[in-house]
Amino acid sequence: MTNKKPGAKIAVFPGSFDPITLGHVDIVHRALPLFDEIIMAVGINSVKKALFPLEKRLGWLREVFAGEPKVKVDFFEGLTVHYCDKVHAKYLIRGLRNASDFDYEKTISQLNNIIGKDVDTVFFISQPKYSHISSTIVREIIKGQGATESFLPAEIKIEYNGDLPK
Ligand code: ADP
Repeated sequence: MTNKKPGAKIAVFPGSFDPITLGHVDIVHRALPLFDEIIMAVGINSVKKALFPLEKRLGWLREVFAGEPKVKVDFFEGLTVHYCDKVHAKYLIRGLRNASDFDYEKTISQLNNIIGKDVDTVFFISQPKYSHISSTIVREIIKGQGATESFLPAEIKIEYNGDLPK
């Protein structure tokens, strides 16, 4: 599935994307000029219970990036660096909204660099207009059936089945 051209710069953007927000989309658009391929990789997290099923999250990612041939969509279980090895990616992409993101991401990035045989994380600082957006907050708004259009890409329409989003 990946671009195997020798020397191709492949980056993995790992996340839960539960759901993907305008903040994530902005990071991808800013990262695109730096890489030949960006793989949006949904990590299956055994601890965090997702609000939306994997297939729904993957479908949204495919729709949002349908017009962008350099963006691929996939999922993985286990360590992010093992997935990077499998798809020949030497770079990870992450976004930073604030100092707490930085503290957490710094440690993960250092660990990944050691166990991932020189996988480097490239960080993008959130634009101020997106730095208040988090999937966690958006999930809470969805649970309360509040309006989410200002946080989510236009492709994502939340419908309700009774009280639950579907
Ligand atoms: P995870 O479950 O790994 O935290 P998320 O899907 O919540 O995955 O986020 C993936 C990445 O996107 C993280 O690096 C996070 O800091 C970044 N991110 C999330 N929201 C924003 C935003 N509004 N602006 C910039 N980066 C963001």
